[in-house]
Amino acid sequence: SAELALHKAKEKGRNNFEFYTSEFNREARFKLELEKSLRRALINGEFDIHLQPQIIPHSETVVGAEALLRWKHPRHGFISPAIFIPLLEDLGLLAGVEGWVINQVCSFGKKLTDKFGELRFSVNISGSHFKTGNLKENIYLALQSSSMDANCLEVELTEDIMIEHVNDSSNILSELKEIGVSVALDDFGKGYSSLSYLKDFPADILKIDKAFIDNLVTDKRNAAIVDSLVDLSHKLGIKVVAEGVEEKQQLSQLMKIDCDYVQGYYFAKPMPVSEFEEFVANRRKHKRLIDSQLSQKSRPVQTDKLL
Ligand code: C2E
Ligand code: MG
Ligand code: MG
Ligand code: MG
Repeated sequence: SAELALHKAKEKGRNNFEFYTSEFNREARFKLELEKSLRRALINGEFDIHLQPQIIPHSETVVGAEALLRWKHPRHGFISPAIFIPLLEDLGLLAGVEGWVINQVCSFGKKLTDKFGELRFSVNISGSHFKTGNLKENIYLALQSSSMDANCLEVELTEDIMIEHVNDSSNILSELKEIGVSVALDDFGKGYSSLSYLKDFPADILKIDKAFIDNLVTDKRNAAIVDSLVDLSHKLGIKVVAEGVEEKQQLSQLMKIDCDYVQGYYFAKPMPVSEFEEFVANRRKHKRLIDSQLSQKSRPVQTDKLL
C-alpha cells in the first residue's frame, strides 16, 4: 500500500508536470501567434488610438488628452497594451508603430484644435523609440505634414527611460522643448521615483501614478507625499497630472492640494477620437450654460451699473 501511495504520488507529479508543460506550451504558442499577427497588424489596420481626456478639476475644462494605442486582434479581440507593447518592443516594431501614432495624433489633432482651440495631445514614447534617434525626425515630419501647432503635442516618457539614457536624453528633449513640444514624466511613483529626476529631467509636466492616487483618501502618509510632490513640482515650474482618478473624494482632495489636471475613469475612460470630439463639444456647451446661469444669478448684486 505504501508502494501504491508512492506510485500514485508519482503519477500525480507526472500529471502536474504535464499540466505545467502543456500550459507552458499553450502560452508559448499563444505568444508566437501574437507575434506573427503583430507583424501584420499595422499593415492590416488593426491598430487604433483612443483618447483619454485630461481635465482642470475646478472648471472641469478639457485641456487635452492622452493617446493610447489599441489593438484588435482578428480572432482574440482587444488585447491589453500591457501584453502587446512589450511584444512590439521585443520584435523591434514599437518605434515604427509609435511613429504611426504620432502621425495620426497630429493629423486629427490639427482638426480638433482648429475646431476647439488649443488642446494638448500626449503620446507615450518607449525606450527603443527614444534610443533609435528617429523620435525627433518623426515628430518634425508629423508636425510639418499636419501643420498642427507644436504646442499641442506632448511626449510622455517614464523614468526608467531616463535612467538608461540620462546623457542623450536632455539633448533630444531640450530640442523638442525649443520648438514648443511639451515633455511629461509618466508614472511617477511607480518605480524608484527619485526626486533628482525632477531636478535633471526637463519636464513640463509630472504625471503622478495611479498607485499614489488609489490610497489618497485612505492613507494620510500617502496623501502627504502627493501634496508635497505637487508643491515641489510647482516650485520647479512643473504642472501636475493625477492619473487614475476614479472617485469624487480623490478629486476633492486633489483640488485641495492644487493639482493642475486630472485624468481617470471618474471623468472619462479612453475613447475613440469621434467620441472625444463629442465629449469636448458637450463639455463646452455645458460650461456655457453654467456660466450664463451664474452671470444671471449675479446680476442683481452688480451694483456698479447703478452707481
Ligand atoms: P500609461 O501611459 O500610464 O496610461 C494610462 C493607463 O491607465 C491607460 O491604460 C489608461 O486606460 C489607464 N487608466 C486611466 N485612468 C484610469 C482609471 O481611473 N482607472 C484605471 N483602472 N485605469 C485607468 P492602457 O490604455 O491599458 O495602457 C497601459 C499602458 O500601455 C500605458 O500606461 C502605456 O504605458 C502603454 N501604452 C499605451 N499606448 C502606448 C504607446 O503608443 N506607446 C508606448 N510606449 N506605450 C503605450
Ligand atoms: Mg502615459
Ligand atoms: Mg502613466
Ligand atoms: Mg499645497
